Amino acid sequence: MNKEILYSVVIPIYNEEDNIPILYEKLVQVFEKIEGNYEIVFVDDGSSDSSWSLLKELHRKNSSVKILKFSRNFGHQTAISAGIDFAHGDAVITMDGDLQDPPELIPSLIEKWKEGYQVVYAVRKARKGESFFKKGVAWFFYRILKLLSEVEIPMDAGDYRLMDKNIAERLKNLKEQYRFIRGLTSWLGFKQTGVEFIREPRYKGEVKYSFWKLIKLALDGIISFSIKPLQVASFVGFIVSIFSFLYAVWAIIYRFALKEIVPGWASAIAIILFLGGIQLITLGIIGEYIGRIYGEVKDRPLYIIEEKYE
Ligand code: UDP
Ligand code: MG
Repeated sequence: MNKEILYSVVIPIYNEEDNIPILYEKLVQVFEKIEGNYEIVFVDDGSSDSSWSLLKELHRKNSSVKILKFSRNFGHQTAISAGIDFAHGDAVITMDGDLQDPPELIPSLIEKWKEGYQVVYAVRKARKGESFFKKGVAWFFYRILKLLSEVEIPMDAGDYRLMDKNIAERLKNLKEQYRFIRGLTSWLGFKQTGVEFIREPRYKGEVKYSFWKLIKLALDGIISFSIKPLQVASFVGFIVSIFSFLYAVWAIIYRFALKEIVPGWASAIAIILFLGGIQLITLGIIGEYIGRIYGEVKDRPLYIIEEKYE
């Protein structure tokens, strides 16, 4: 007998009570048309609404629904990681729980996987229902990341992707605390490709990524995949030193040739403040790296599971 393919869908859930039922229905419909078995792994990232009881109900109704509950909110990237750790599939699909990642795209992801790609990521061709500000920041972030990152991370791709079991297994061995999963999957290499889709607005509820969580994710992405910001500090220092040396030479010549004292209170203050600012920014950048080193050396587990039903 041929062993049937098993697909795992991993979904992080943080207060998504209004989205879970319809997302579940849609997924079941999609998998009815796909040959093979499926499991849906929901990871409750410390929800305070009725998400967990809804998930328990789904698990009772359908044994293909596996559910994990974190002891508190550990964050989106960690929730996805836990789901991947837990998944058994030959292919593992990660997607958001707010229907912004349409389940209808799953067959196209699977098709590419069957062609031999180990990672198939969904690329946002357009984003609907997101503020101009958020789109702008996201656009800017992906370009900065491309500029700085030492690995090629696909642009405008979020965490909607399919990965082969091979990739999922290797991802489990990347134990870093400050996780930027799209970077980690790119770092792993192998044959990867993208499939375009239009990102719909969130179906129900509020965005769970606060402004600060988004900034943290962006910093994790940049800092985990680049040490260039640290090098920028020495570059700026170098440039400033050259200019100050030239300035000193000029001041000496001026003093002796023209025998005039330059009145320079305002410009001196401006320069001191400017350099002070650069120094503080540089310290801050170093601090971001040191803080993450501190977080890594503590070697705490990535997450704590309070309850699970498989
Ligand atoms: N999410 C999570 N933990 C968090 C924040 C978000 O598990 O701390 C989940 C959320 O429930 C959703 C997905 O991550 O399924 C994406 O969150 P959201 O839609 O708020 O962010 P977006 O990516 O759309 O900005
Ligand atoms: Mg969303």
